Amino acid sequence: MDRRRIMNDKFSIPQSLGRHLIHSANTAHFGYIIEQAMSFGQTIVETVFDLVENGFVGETEPIFDPEADNEVYRVDPEFHRDQRDSIELHSYRWAKQVDAGGTFKDKLKRISEATFDKFMLAKRSQIICHDLDVRRWALAAARRERCNQFKASPSWLRNFKIRHRIVSRKITKFVSRSDVQDREAIENAAIAFQLENTTVTEEIGLENTFNTDQSGCNYETHCGRTLDIAGERKVERVVKSKNATTHSFTIMPTMSGSGVLTTPLYIVMREPKCVFGPQVQQTLFSSPNLKKSYSESGKMGKKHLEEFITDVFVPKTGPKSCLVVDSWSTFTEANIQAAIPVEKKVKILQIPPGATGLIQPWDVWGFRIWKNYIKHIEDFVLLHDISIQLSQRNNCLKLQAIIHDQLRSPRYVNFFKYSWFKAGLTGIRPDHFSNPVRFAFHGTEVDCAICSHITMAKCSWCKLPLCATHFFENVHMCNNYIE
Ligand SMILES: [Zn+2]
Ligand SMILES: [Zn+2]
Repeated sequence: MDRRRIMNDKFSIPQSLGRHLIHSANTAHFGYIIEQAMSFGQTIVETVFDLVENGFVGETEPIFDPEADNEVYRVDPEFHRDQRDSIELHSYRWAKQVDAGGTFKDKLKRISEATFDKFMLAKRSQIICHDLDVRRWALAAARRERCNQFKASPSWLRNFKIRHRIVSRKITKFVSRSDVQDREAIENAAIAFQLENTTVTEEIGLENTFNTDQSGCNYETHCGRTLDIAGERKVERVVKSKNATTHSFTIMPTMSGSGVLTTPLYIVMREPKCVFGPQVQQTLFSSPNLKKSYSESGKMGKKHLEEFITDVFVPKTGPKSCLVVDSWSTFTEANIQAAIPVEKKVKILQIPPGATGLIQPWDVWGFRIWKNYIKHIEDFVLLHDISIQLSQRNNCLKLQAIIHDQLRSPRYVNFFKYSWFKAGLTGIRPDHFSNPVRFAFHGTEVDCAICSHITMAKCSWCKLPLCATHFFENVHMCNNYIE
């Protein structure tokens, strides 16, 4: 079997089928998915479809990146089902051919890995790098592998970049050596923290290790972007309530290292007088999974921290636990310890300043999904012209209560565990997990299971597709878990 032909064939798959397969544009992704499946060494077609249908490539990296602008990672699952037979045929033929040329494939894999290592080294050292550098590194690796037929061609480069999601970016800031050294210091502190945390959790167990963080929310969140005709200078858009885009409240969820989202959710509402009138009190939305508090700014102060520790955190902990928090000025060890009763021991691990975005579970993964979930509900309400004012205080509370309940589903235990893994605070990579946003909003169900109106979201517990009335307005709190 001609090896060149194998490679050609390999890349002709996305070209011949990819157009139909990948929902948006970038056909080469299917090649990537197949390649991942191959490296798993399982029955190729089964794995491919597993990965595609579950929204995963590689191990636990979702194809669907909720924050990525590029829709190219999104795959149309409906289409796949229809096309299954023809793909199976192609994949089978291709798998057989690659089997025949295994050694060349192995070499290519090693070349690709070595090149990527070089690239990451350059990135970490903040060295500017271009296409030619990547090709140069690849050729050097090929020489080491004695792989003379490898030319680091532009098409190889293109695939390499797609596979590793490498794009050309405008440099946003030029930094000097000393900035880089600062960053190195932060990274070193982060690594030291990861090690310390791992030691502590080995002693007291992941189920006794918690991470909490506050996140500011607007009454109505919008991404601040819209489609418009290119070149328009003035881009003004309608939001349901103009005040709502700036006035905020704070949520403070807590997750354990064993993947449990604890209840209740602590939430601080903005209330200028810090107290609600009797009428508001009466009509204020409440739910067992929300612990509400108020402040003038909607932000948390020392009083709120104490309340959180005493009423929300401590009741959930055993005699010995560990709390990972970021280096927010109110979160001083003394402030936290003061609120903890004597019979409980809580070790406070404070993330080094500047390293929050690198190693805090809520930051690296949890909040992204939380906010993306909210955005999907908001978009649904606008798109279908549903008469729910999400910027109203009560609806805001309702939305937070629902999302908190939804994310508590056992379906997402691995999702939260993954946050710890991604933050480098545990070396244990969780098994496959569902992406909450994908599960809730990207299903194929159209009609509400109760009234047959259009589905707003699929419940992460009972799996029922539900409309705005049955999911949101009637507050679908669920504990009927169906796997
Ligand atoms: Zn319904
Ligand atoms: Zn349900």
